[in-house]
Amino acid sequence: MKPDVEIYDTTLRDGTQGEGINFSVADKLRIAEKLDTFGVHYIEGGWPGSNPKDIEFFARAARRKFKRARLASFGSTRRKHVAVESDDQVRLLLEARTPVITIFGKTWLLHVKEVLGTTPEENLAMIGDTVRFLRDHGKFVIYDAEHAFDGFKDSADYALATWEAAEHAGADIVTLCDTNGGCLPNEVARITAAARGRLTCRLGIHTHNDIGLGLANALAALEAGASHVQGTINGYGERTGNCNLISVIPNVALKLKKTCVPAASLPKLRELSQFVDEIANFRHDPRQPWVGATAFAHKGGMHVNAVQKVARSFEHIDPASVGNSRRVLVSDLAGRSNIVMKAQELGFKISPDTPELKDILARIKELEHRGYEFEAAEASLALLIRKILKHEEPPFTVDAYHVSMRRDREESVVEATVKVRVGDQVAHTVAEGDGPVNALDSALRAALTQFFPRIKKVQLTDYKVRILESSTGTAARTRVLIETSDGKDEWGTVGVNENIIEASLQALVDSVEYALMKK
Ligand SMILES: [Zn+2]
Repeated sequence: MKPDVEIYDTTLRDGTQGEGINFSVADKLRIAEKLDTFGVHYIEGGWPGSNPKDIEFFARAARRKFKRARLASFGSTRRKHVAVESDDQVRLLLEARTPVITIFGKTWLLHVKEVLGTTPEENLAMIGDTVRFLRDHGKFVIYDAEHAFDGFKDSADYALATWEAAEHAGADIVTLCDTNGGCLPNEVARITAAARGRLTCRLGIHTHNDIGLGLANALAALEAGASHVQGTINGYGERTGNCNLISVIPNVALKLKKTCVPAASLPKLRELSQFVDEIANFRHDPRQPWVGATAFAHKGGMHVNAVQKVARSFEHIDPASVGNSRRVLVSDLAGRSNIVMKAQELGFKISPDTPELKDILARIKELEHRGYEFEAAEASLALLIRKILKHEEPPFTVDAYHVSMRRDREESVVEATVKVRVGDQVAHTVAEGDGPVNALDSALRAALTQFFPRIKKVQLTDYKVRILESSTGTAARTRVLIETSDGKDEWGTVGVNENIIEASLQALVDSVEYALMKK
């Protein structure tokens, strides 16, 4: 069944324009998989014409199967006075081999004349030629009308002509963009309605949050005839960011009462938001609407009392419907059902009556209290559940390790030794590395490869460190998040300790143990 509103995620393209955001190719693949499982309809992976990292992303993504989402590559209309078939940037779009291609073009005469330096007629030809060419190659084409609202306010006739040029050439969707993010909801509604009166294809909306109205503008457009909305997870994006899909999705589903992502995904909204923040190495914003830790926290005694009697008295929705929880009533049962859901998702046979559930829950609570977070470290969580559920011994243990570092003139030399036990056999290895974690990783791997040759393919792909505030007056703790790949899958593991090397070792051990477990 077709949803009332389509969700188009551009976290991996527009979102990466945000300050402080830098995703590796492995990060992008993990986020794409997460978005696909969650059920967004389109995932814009990048701009192949703008950087080699995005070309690599599309090459690797082409080998994967996405269950729900359609992958889109992003680019621009052809250059002026160049035949579309000889435009390199357009050729790279086809080479990305995505089913969907999104191209942007100019609506605003100011940009046509003074930025592109061309004529209004040539701009219309650039739009029409590019859309037609991509359609002729069998692509589903989304036309993003850059500065759609500013352009319309400047010259309504010309703006409409550019959108019609895209539609006549075969664009499947025309998306109106508030590129500078400075429009008001009533303007967005009025102009979207004008477009709706002239075009027959699906209309999209793409907004930015420069004056704090990204979400309001997207909803205004949806009520005025748009049915496709573009945005990013947690509102990442240049300047103050894009329209935040984490707010769009529940507003569409619960407030506008229209269908968008699968209903079963809505309770995973908070987890999706946290996952992407973890990968981006951002602290999750506690005040983020819908999903923040304080979104349903009740402090005032009277509120707490009222909420305990009738939740609805001080809550606009049931927090669980977006995967959040009330902060005064930490219900053991809620925690229990969350863990059951998560464990089933990870492939374990478990029910609310499984006797080990109590121990699993206690262990997770204890670790979370110590600073562990499992949102982006599902492999560590899977190992924890497996150990308790199956009463298994780990396949190996690290009996001892030593890391040393010395500076020799200009060069620093780091060396690690590791003693690993498998059954009653012991391996003792030494390795050098670029840094202590790299040396430790090499030594551990060298030792374990003797017992488990198949871990040769397993590689550490990313390493992130976060210093956790100390809450008890003790030394600050370090949380290490590691991403690992065997060329086929990626997984995340976590370690926490006052000592960064110890935290890293925990995450490394989990990453290898998970590789052995998954087979
Ligand atoms: Zn944008």
